[in-house]
Parts: sequence; structure tokens; C-alpha cells
Amino acid sequence: MSDQLQRFIFDDYQIRGEIAQAHNSFNEIIKKHNYSPEVENIVGELLIATCLLTATLKFEGKIAVQLQGDGPLNLAVINANQDLQLRGTARAEGDTTGLSFKQLTGKGHLMITVTPDDGERYQGIVELRKESLSECLEDYFEQSEQLATRIILHASNTDKAQAAGLLLQTLPAVAESHEEEFQHVSALASTVKEDELYTLANDELLYRLYHQETVRLFEAAAISFKCSCSKERCLSSLASIAPEEILDLLNENGAIDMHCEYCASDYHFEVDDLQILLNDEHNTQH
Ligand SMILES: [Zn+2]
Repeated sequence: MSDQLQRFIFDDYQIRGEIAQAHNSFNEIIKKHNYSPEVENIVGELLIATCLLTATLKFEGKIAVQLQGDGPLNLAVINANQDLQLRGTARAEGDTTGLSFKQLTGKGHLMITVTPDDGERYQGIVELRKESLSECLEDYFEQSEQLATRIILHASNTDKAQAAGLLLQTLPAVAESHEEEFQHVSALASTVKEDELYTLANDELLYRLYHQETVRLFEAAAISFKCSCSKERCLSSLASIAPEEILDLLNENGAIDMHCEYCASDYHFEVDDLQILLNDEHNTQH
């Protein structure tokens, strides 16, 4: 199975759907971290949720879906762009064994930040009041867009990393008049098994759920892991520090080490690597 997002629509109802599966990209995000299985599962669900959300937004730019709470899982975040290139990270403290979504996140928020290439950044926030990430997201759509939405999310790293999910949503203009149809397709979606979402081809899956409806499946878009960190980006963030402070750090530690918490890459800078930044001091002084 490949990592992909695929849209479908019901010809007879004003309802659209999205299905997403992620195996490699999920593995890439978790493999260099020592997350507990419970945290890994939330990261996998968040990854799928981010892909499903990317499909609901009409924009060219970036999206970040973030969980922030006062539970043992302080933070989990996935960043994606419109090409479904994504990265993510999580921060947890203490023993998280056997903890539910609610116990892990505690009191907190789900934040969705959309940064279009052109235009204003937009942030939507919903309180974490439900028992699962999928229900919190349904809550978000209910509150922010008044669109009936059904979201199913699964993730597991028991044998291998696999995450998958499904979204159903009424089309904006017709939200109220199609409540019955929505209940109908939503109830059928609820019968999907976790393993079917991981392993079945999407046309088989949709046939299994909706063989009595007319469903049109669109072309799939690939999901991939990509971290945007680089030596150049580290250097440009160091450039915002005053040259004297860089010299102090170098004198103290002999080098400056930077770590990417998304992909676990390490960047090491010695005095020779930083001459350009240090020469700036020379320039500004004269
Ligand atoms: Zn990185």
C-alpha cells in the first residue's frame, strides 16, 4: 500500500469524502524517536487528520495541526504543505503506558493554523472535550464551519507503522437539506474495520461500504515525508543572533550544535563555518 490521499463523491448526495493511508511517511516521522506506542498512535492519527484537512482547504501554502495540553503529552504537531509533504513531532513526559487520548492530552486545545502563500494566516482552535482526536475534529468542523463531518482515524505500530482514515462532509451550500443522507453514509462508514482501512484498495473499500450508492473516486495524491530543515536554515536562524553572542557560545562550547526535533538531524558548526556571520560584526563596527 502506498501513502496517499484520495477524494470520492456520492453522485446522488451533496456529500464528499476523503480516504488517506500512510505507512512510510508515518514510519519516517516516528522511527528516530522513542515515543511510546500510545504517543505513536496519536502522531499517526494526527498525520492522517492533517492530510484529510489539507483536502478540505482551498489554499496554496502550509497547514499545521497541533495538540497542546497539560497531560503527559504536552505537544504533538504535524506540518504539511499543499503537496502533502509533511513532518511532525511530539513531546511527552513520564509513563504514558495504557493512557487514553484524553488522559494523554489532559486539558488543552486542538489548533489548526493555515498559512497561505498569499494572504493572511488563519488559526482555528477547539477545546479538547471529547474522547478521541477524530471526535475533537468533528467538534471543530461543527463549531467553525457548521458542516456535518464524520472522521474515522486509526494508527498502529505493532507489526509495522500504519495509519489510515476517512472523512465524510456535506458540501457547504447544502449542509441542512441533506441530513438524512449524511446519517445514512456516516452509519455505513462506521462499519469499516481498522484493518480494512490499512489493507484494502480504496475502490474495494468503497464498494464494501457503498455498493448500493453511486460513488465516484478521483485520482489519488501522494503523501510523503519531508523535513524543511537544512544547514542553510540553521545558519539563517543563527544570523538573527548578535555576533558577540555567537562568539560567546563558540568560546564556551567550542562549537554550536543544533538539533531538528522533527527529523532528528544534527547540525554542527565550528568557528570556520560561521565566519560569514562573524564577519558581519566586523562590517557593522566600521
Ligand atoms: Zn529536520
